[in-house]
Amino acid sequence: MNYLNTVMNRKIKQNIYDLSREDLTEIVQSLEQPSYRSKQILEWLYKNYVENFDEMNNVPASLRDHLNSNCTFQGLEIENHIKSNDGFTQKWLFKLIDGSLIETVLMKYDKRATACISTQAGCAMGCTFCATGQMGYVRNLSHGEIIAQAVHAARVMRRSGKRLSNIVFMGMGEPMHNYENVISAAKTIVDPKLLSIAARKITISTIGIIEGIDKLADEKIQIGLAVSLHGTNDEERQNLIKAASKWNLSDLIRSCKNYFKKTGRRVTFEWALIEGVNDSEETAKNLARLLKGLPCHLNVIPLNPTEDYDGKPSSKEKIKVFVNLLNSAGIITTVRMRRGIDIAAGCGQLKAKNPSKERPLQRV
Ligand code: SAH
Ligand code: SF4
Repeated sequence: MNYLNTVMNRKIKQNIYDLSREDLTEIVQSLEQPSYRSKQILEWLYKNYVENFDEMNNVPASLRDHLNSNCTFQGLEIENHIKSNDGFTQKWLFKLIDGSLIETVLMKYDKRATACISTQAGCAMGCTFCATGQMGYVRNLSHGEIIAQAVHAARVMRRSGKRLSNIVFMGMGEPMHNYENVISAAKTIVDPKLLSIAARKITISTIGIIEGIDKLADEKIQIGLAVSLHGTNDEERQNLIKAASKWNLSDLIRSCKNYFKKTGRRVTFEWALIEGVNDSEETAKNLARLLKGLPCHLNVIPLNPTEDYDGKPSSKEKIKVFVNLLNSAGIITTVRMRRGIDIAAGCGQLKAKNPSKERPLQRV
């Protein structure tokens, strides 16, 4: 990308986190500054999480002014911030440069802090039980819009003297539907010179876009893969996931096996457990059969409430029977801790809505 041309043609300020190393080098050279200036700027952005150019106090004013007139920290603007009564979970509603809205969640645990970041405004996959699916697709997020969420969470943790330890691409959107930006963001996150969060602490969750899983298996990046299943055959899946007809389940399982073979990493499967829909003993047995021989972990998520879906989470007893059946069949199964339900920050509850203006979201 030719940074200067892009900016001049667009005549709008570029999100500072969309600048690549090459872009920065180009700027530094164009102003006849020594090359170590790029390194200094990157450190301010990714190690110190600054919020404006004035804080970059070892960078000459001329360079800061140039950046300031072409780039912005306002790529993500906080529209709303709420904290859960659970004391551990908080959520931000961000406005993007074109007015689109997204949400980001931060969950603190005893020994870790996880940011759940969005990859799209809305989602095109149309899972009936998911609030993001219910709002439809708005647009893909840029590399910088994805990264800025992680930097924001890291900055918040730093203020309490702690470190952001984990990142999950499990917020709004389908990561594999925005593959290039998601992977370049993941690479920025793991880069020791940039955000420097270990690859094993990062998970990408997908509804099962096979092309994406296959590409990820070939990337030289050891991040975790989570695949949302919800059904044990194509028909069950298609009833819950509108887009599932594009990817057949046996191909999806084959692709997960290939992922394990190539990366040596166990796949996590996710299962939103819905009363009377996919929580029977028979379903548990079919699921155990489907996953047999595939090194994996199963994460059961009792359904979280959303506005446009009537289903209920399974009862405690049903959950126990379902989980026990799978564990005794040799599939390591755990129930995901419910967090932030009171502020609609749980899995599948993210639906970007401006609380004060309630204006309709822009569709494409
Ligand atoms: N699009 C990706 C990642 C975002 S959704 C995916 O679908 O995997 C993150 C997780 O939340 C997925 O496992 C999804 O199945 C789950 N989820 C969606 N809606 C939910 C709901 N209402 N209750 C519980 N889990 C839900
Ligand atoms: Fe999209 Fe994931 Fe929600 Fe399905 S569950 S609509 S893929 S965000």
